[in-house]
Amino acid sequence: MKNLWSARDAKACIARCAIDGVGEDLALRVYTSRLLGGEPALVLHGGGNTSVKTRARAANGEELDVLCVKGSGWDLGAIEPAGLPAVRLEPLRELRKLDRLGDEEMINLQRGNLLDSAAPNPSVETLLHAFLPHKFIDHTHANAVLALTDQPDGEKICREVFGGRVALVPYVMPGFALAKACADIYERTPDVEGLILLKHGIFSFGGSARQAYKRMIELVNLAENRLNKGRKRIFVAVKLPGKLATPAEVAPILRGLLAIETDPGEGLHQRFLLSYRSSKKIQAYVGGSEVRRYAQAGTVTPDHAIRTKPWPAILPVPQAGKLDRFVGQAAKAIADYKARYAAYFARHNAKLGSAKTQLDAVPRVLLVPGLGLFAVGASARAAGIAGDLAETTVEVVSAAESIGRFTSIREADLFDIEYWSLEQAKLGRAEEAPLARHICAVTGGAGAIGRATAAVFARAGAEVVILDLPGKALEKAADELGALGIACDVTDDASVTDAFARIAETHGGLDILVSNAGAAWQGRIGEVSDAVLRRSFELNFFAHQRAGKAAVAIMLKQGTGGVLLFNASKQAVNPGPNFGPYGLPKAATLSLARQYAVDYGREGIRSNAVNADRIRSGLLTDEMVAARAKARKVSRKEYMRGNLLGLEVSAQDVGEAFLSLALARKTTGAVLTVDGGNIAAALR
Ligand code: ZN
Repeated sequence: MKNLWSARDAKACIARCAIDGVGEDLALRVYTSRLLGGEPALVLHGGGNTSVKTRARAANGEELDVLCVKGSGWDLGAIEPAGLPAVRLEPLRELRKLDRLGDEEMINLQRGNLLDSAAPNPSVETLLHAFLPHKFIDHTHANAVLALTDQPDGEKICREVFGGRVALVPYVMPGFALAKACADIYERTPDVEGLILLKHGIFSFGGSARQAYKRMIELVNLAENRLNKGRKRIFVAVKLPGKLATPAEVAPILRGLLAIETDPGEGLHQRFLLSYRSSKKIQAYVGGSEVRRYAQAGTVTPDHAIRTKPWPAILPVPQAGKLDRFVGQAAKAIADYKARYAAYFARHNAKLGSAKTQLDAVPRVLLVPGLGLFAVGASARAAGIAGDLAETTVEVVSAAESIGRFTSIREADLFDIEYWSLEQAKLGRAEEAPLARHICAVTGGAGAIGRATAAVFARAGAEVVILDLPGKALEKAADELGALGIACDVTDDASVTDAFARIAETHGGLDILVSNAGAAWQGRIGEVSDAVLRRSFELNFFAHQRAGKAAVAIMLKQGTGGVLLFNASKQAVNPGPNFGPYGLPKAATLSLARQYAVDYGREGIRSNAVNADRIRSGLLTDEMVAARAKARKVSRKEYMRGNLLGLEVSAQDVGEAFLSLALARKTTGAVLTVDGGNIAAALR
């Protein structure tokens, strides 16, 4: 691992911070925290923490000693001075006199000593930083260090590798007791440069930011050098059948099996999103003959348990063409996992006087020999974090197995972390958005109506995927929402197949399709060429059918219902002169929406259409509005408001109409008019 300290960058950081009145100590603390946080082999997603002891001025003008320590919710890689709240140091140090201190009480005392009462909660490892004397303290969960300590003889290995440069601390759960243990051990060996917390991570410290950081890198390098002497071929591979199903085929099956039926009579499900990961290393790990031993031994560092649960589920091999068999085997593997998890909870909860509330028993990591792993979460973000932690697990366990045998903390210790009172306190607090845990694809997602619709669905909590022709517009639309954008030509079979496979591979499946892509062709019906008519049918009818078919195929695999939403047009029910080439396929699409409702209602798949008119978009440009207004001898504004309500209808209104249909759980085969009132286009 490289030491990335740069005197120039450090100076620049000091200068930048000075503009906001932030002093040199905190500026350098920010600088090296970012260096640590930028290296995934050291820390990931809020893992690790850092501190600096400095002086600060309280509101009453008094200058005092403070500890600026990482606040919870901040990532080291992107930390700002505000992410290192200042806590009065002396009152924290005094706590060391206590014999015990509960977690809630500790957090309360830490908060009570903040200089800024609006600052985030100081890290749960704050007292550990406070009890040690050093000015700068860095803490990471370095992969290489974990691979050495997560061994039956981890202590002995660490002594050999680090010699007297560090002191070793046996595993204690983070909190007051660990802070005291670390301070006691340090004071017996005050010359050390850091502490190795067995089966947890590493602390390094120093008088300057540069020294603490340099020591961290040097110590991690000692660990890496030791690992480099390990075996190169780590796992013995199991034999796999010749041809395997693809991740895109497997993901919706898994997603369906993981979904929790919350109200069976009502067809309600609590869904999860998936994040698929594969690499040579992951393949070797999941396909190893001893995967049931090393993958089930526990987490590589305790706090992963909160995101990944103590162990993953191990699934059968998905053979191509034999997915029916896979469904049965995978269902059993997941049911077994849930039973094991419930037993684990009951066992440990009983010892604690049944004080805890059980979390859902759904695995957060699925190992699929031959394919890789699928991480599971309540959102794409949560699944992504679990996926990153699972990849780190693969790294650490592989390295540990290359020099010995991976072991974790005891199951009771894993339980204490997973069911930490501070974590339990968060339960049930966050209310989910109506479409949270739902995946929604919008075709024509880069156009005016598509963009507005995608934004409306994203605001309702859905994980949105934007499909449109390749180009800047697609990139921009996806960027705006932070959504996945997929280049897709909905008039091309292969392009649609690929796009929906990518949705399934990226997020695990699909719950809502907004089939919106379209374009207008004109011509008097008796004179228009067949070629024009066929082209319009290709986009305004067959593309809807193609997308509908691809969506339904995924929804049927999931078995949790779904929603199809089609953009029909006013033309479908109220033809305008010379708009036959556009209106005819749209009329067919309106029938298509109803046909899906008829054919798939039994599977809980609803199908509805929106019937919009006079929306400014690629189909109705400003020039067209101007021309039509002129022809009718009205202003543009009057033209746009030429409806019963006298209101202009916007792309946003169309998006909201789609959303209302997505939420109307007992409505299918319906058409919702969004045109400000046009009695000629009213359905009868
Ligand atoms: Zn830690």
